[in-house]
Amino acid sequence: MPTGGKTTLTQFLIEERRRAPEATGDLNALITDVSLACKAISRKVAYGELGGMLGSAGASNVQGEEQKALDVISNSIFLRANEWGGHVAAMVSEELEQVYTLPSQYPRGKYLLMFDPLDGSSNIDVNVAVGSIFSITRAPSPGEDAQAADFLQPGTRQVCAGYAIYGPSTMLVLTLGKGTHAFTLEPMLGEWVLSHPNLRIPESTREFAINASNSRFWEPAVKRYVDECLAGQTGPRGTDFNMRWIASLVAETHRILMRGGVFLYPRDNKDPAKAGRLRLLYEANPISMLVEQAGGRASDGRRRLMEIEPESLHQRIGFVFGSADEVARIERYHGEDPPDAYASPLFARRGLFAQAG
Ligand code: MN
Ligand code: MN
Repeated sequence: MPTGGKTTLTQFLIEERRRAPEATGDLNALITDVSLACKAISRKVAYGELGGMLGSAGASNVQGEEQKALDVISNSIFLRANEWGGHVAAMVSEELEQVYTLPSQYPRGKYLLMFDPLDGSSNIDVNVAVGSIFSITRAPSPGEDAQAADFLQPGTRQVCAGYAIYGPSTMLVLTLGKGTHAFTLEPMLGEWVLSHPNLRIPESTREFAINASNSRFWEPAVKRYVDECLAGQTGPRGTDFNMRWIASLVAETHRILMRGGVFLYPRDNKDPAKAGRLRLLYEANPISMLVEQAGGRASDGRRRLMEIEPESLHQRIGFVFGSADEVARIERYHGEDPPDAYASPLFARRGLFAQAG
């Protein structure tokens, strides 16, 4: 075997399909097209400054965030790789306000593809790992153009979710609902090779990740959780915790899938118009499926994230995921919120991050 006896992505997909005799092969073909887009983006990212694409694209996306040239290029790589094959009915991208309707010459397929073509792109200038995230559901009206409402399905209806991470090595992490599996790109062959089958997130952890600069906006349950972690051995948890923060969702997810931990980007009161920072359809839902399939837990802080009925394409949501015991604890703390908690002098004093006065 050219891959030293290890399974390639192609072989993995074919063997998965043999176990589902009703499958037509469309999903495998779609995943193959997505994985090709990820390989192409990986090459663009690897050229860094030499590629001449690290700067701003001089525009903002639908979220009001600065678009980098590489965001725009990654978006069009995803669109071009997936629009022609007849597997998708339409697509939704972080970089496009509206549903992407396929060019008229291509057949409409039976799946919907949602993606964040370049996650963590605000980190690209500092050469930190970035990635692409994707989610696949069935199209309610296969063979026809899909409308925005067709995409508003809860995460439990995903048939496949995954991400590629462009780090020291390029990896593709995938679930089809039977475990979470990681493939490493063999750079000479250009093949995805199954390097980490059946990832498992340990149930408990002593590592958490949160953007502490937002602490003054946190809900009391989050403050309490973080304070207890920070209090370490002398606090109620009776053990020391480590903190990590990369500010790249794909990189945070990858660390947690590889060695455990808990990630929080909770709902806060920084901007009442936004229920959180991360996007439900193409960030939180696919990451949740990967995490659950690896034995972890994923939540909006209060309930199972994948059961939330989406209301809009670019909806934001509070997101807490990782080791099951810690996520369950955070959900429990939210259930114990005292009423009118922000005004409570108790919470104003107790936080280690709390502001004076
Ligand atoms: Mn992102
Ligand atoms: Mn992005």
